[in-house]
Amino acid sequence: METFVTIERALQIVRKTPIQSTTETISLDQGHNRILSKDLQSKVDDPAFDNSAMDGWAVRSEDTTRVEIGVTTAGEASSEIGEGEAIRIMTGASIPKGADAIVMVEDGINGKAHTNFIRKRGENLRQGETTLTSGQVMTPAAISLAATMGHNTIPVRSRPKVVVISTGDELISPGSELKEGQIYESNSYGLCALLEKIGCKPIRHEVVEDTMDGLRNALNSIDCDVIITSGGVSMGDHDYVRKLMEEEGTIHFWKVAMRPGGPPLFGTWNGIPLFGLPGNPVSSHLVFSLLVAPWISPEIQLAKEVKVRMKNQVKGAPSKVCLRRIQISTVGDELVATTHTHQGSGNIHSMVAHNGVTYLPPDTGADVGDTIQALWFQ
Ligand code: AMP
Ligand code: MG
Repeated sequence: METFVTIERALQIVRKTPIQSTTETISLDQGHNRILSKDLQSKVDDPAFDNSAMDGWAVRSEDTTRVEIGVTTAGEASSEIGEGEAIRIMTGASIPKGADAIVMVEDGINGKAHTNFIRKRGENLRQGETTLTSGQVMTPAAISLAATMGHNTIPVRSRPKVVVISTGDELISPGSELKEGQIYESNSYGLCALLEKIGCKPIRHEVVEDTMDGLRNALNSIDCDVIITSGGVSMGDHDYVRKLMEEEGTIHFWKVAMRPGGPPLFGTWNGIPLFGLPGNPVSSHLVFSLLVAPWISPEIQLAKEVKVRMKNQVKGAPSKVCLRRIQISTVGDELVATTHTHQGSGNIHSMVAHNGVTYLPPDTGADVGDTIQALWFQ
């Protein structure tokens, strides 16, 4: 086991434990945000036939006066024109044989003929062409492109099944009444939402009490691709995730040089990869974004690396990368950052009130006007 590793080293270590991945074929309707598992070729030319980019008349460009001999609309088979003839045409309709230009409806039938208002067969895509490759995230535009290419189903990576377990005797579900000393359990909700965002199938386990037996029983009852726990990984007497993993599981690393988010651990339980996140809400979100997401779904970027100019002074952290919550905005051609709520790692509001974090190297603060590295949440 390694302890107190850098963020880069932590990523190297987790990547040595790949997630069992399978593939499946799903309906395109279900495809949003899924990750393609094979290259996809177009089944057709796009457009499949020369067609009009405008409402107007299909004409021969050499004619100067024309007579309308008919109408063609999108969806009809191609018609034909001869010398001095024009066919009224709607956007998307097939170009009649003999025509080589379009006159816009606004210009009248004898108006200027435009050859570039014809969308040529195959000008966007050729049949057999690959435009979506394995690993592609199926954005809304990628979904439309798959449909354009004739696919109603797509091969995708199966969504990893990830169980999220919050641990802590003080935690109760939101919706019930708080008794003295209790707090609402919030991490599993946010973590499940983050898992959805990176294309996983999250399963929220009920809260597990702070005992070795309770935790062992819960972990042994789980069948999934990845286990994520929250809480119980620090130095406290009740930090049973760490204790159980030390005694009965396998730990690859414990503690990462980042603040907040210092005490996470990573290892395996019964062969299942287990990420133990700290209980503080900001810590668990940041460890997820910096370490868990790039490991499970490297294709989906939760945070973009940017340079920002600080409007406030911020302190760094001794020996750790310091992740202070910042609000990043564009001013002119640069990104500026401000910080405006209490920064405690227990204050999840700071993650809503800001859209990024600083990425200050160990022992390094920033003064007003300094340009520093930051992460901008997407
Ligand atoms: P721990 O990592 O278990 O020592 O917890 C650190 C802090 O985070 C404590 O103040 C806990 O009450 C709080 N905490 C732990 N788990 C959760 C959770 N699931 N939701 C909200 N707060 C939590
Ligand atoms: Mg705890």
